[in-house]
Amino acid sequence: MKKLLSLLLCACCAVLAAGCSPNKVTRGFEAMDTYMQLDVYGAGDSLADALQQQIDRLDSKLSATNAAPAENVIYQLNQKGSVEADAEVLALAKQSLELCRETDGALDLTVYPIVEEWGFISKAYHIPSQERLSELLPLVDFRRVVCGESALRVENGMKLDFGAVAKGYAADLTVESLREQGINSAICNFGGTVAAYGKKPGGSAWKVGIADPENSAAFMGYVTCSDKIIATSGSYERYFEGEDGKIYSHIINPKTGYPVDNGIASVSIISENGVLSDGLSTALFVMGKEKAQEFYSSRADFDYIMLTDDNKAYVSEGVYDSFTLAGGYAFDVVKIKRQ
Ligand code: ADP
Ligand code: MG
Repeated sequence: MKKLLSLLLCACCAVLAAGCSPNKVTRGFEAMDTYMQLDVYGAGDSLADALQQQIDRLDSKLSATNAAPAENVIYQLNQKGSVEADAEVLALAKQSLELCRETDGALDLTVYPIVEEWGFISKAYHIPSQERLSELLPLVDFRRVVCGESALRVENGMKLDFGAVAKGYAADLTVESLREQGINSAICNFGGTVAAYGKKPGGSAWKVGIADPENSAAFMGYVTCSDKIIATSGSYERYFEGEDGKIYSHIINPKTGYPVDNGIASVSIISENGVLSDGLSTALFVMGKEKAQEFYSSRADFDYIMLTDDNKAYVSEGVYDSFTLAGGYAFDVVKIKRQ
């Protein structure tokens, strides 16, 4: 009898504990050349397994750098100039090439030969000669990627790279799966692209940190939001110092072949779509301050936070009220309105 009572008591405690904090599964792993972490509430290991597998599958299918697993469509395309592609790859190619067009080539998924030349893939960094860049620049033109009914094609020497949008696509697929599974609450970080899904278990909105460009392990501020994907491109993420003492970052202006050097430290995009957020974070970085504001004024599907080297934070009107500066940071916060 005593045993039965204590068993019952244990069961009650377990129920109470579950009521206080719904079971949460946390999964950290490396994929797409970065560290990812999924925190999903009201789910178990099997969902976390499935989500992780989905991302691994994307990585081996889409990476321009992973040499040669048989299923790597993009690697094959870049080797052979054409490849049979499934509906998923074709849809992603369509969506992201459209974004290249809308940003007038500030985002250009064919800039890869230049990214390689600067050593950002091999990590053997060097400053290419102007002659070498002039040879490579004609290979950069997203308009010459042919996205057919069942195949992708590029011209001789051209290369396609989803690097600027892949983490955003991983975020979109994850969100879709969470929705299908009836999950209400999750926060997933795909190496700097964050999906703030639903609300916190307690019902309040998520607070997503914006990295301090001078110390990317710290946050200079927070955006309060729910059901948004926040992607950040920062010059601090990958760069090298040239023999001339200058800093060269991994975000390339596709028109010049040179790393962007326009006083911008990072751009975060807040929208409902991961590919859009991820692609635009790169594109607005390339555009610079004025063009970014013009572009923002021309559409209604995203907001942004742009940090500059002179410690200004340009925050667009749709997120201005949900942005808070972290303690100890002296950024001058400027509201950007649609013109
Ligand atoms: P990160 O990979 O650091 O999160 P991004 O999402 O901005 O940053 O993606 C940048 C990557 O995309 C670079 O590492 C490079 O391979 C590629 N890239 C650089 N400049 C461009 C550009 N203008 N358009 C498209 N891709 C770019
Ligand atoms: Mg990006």
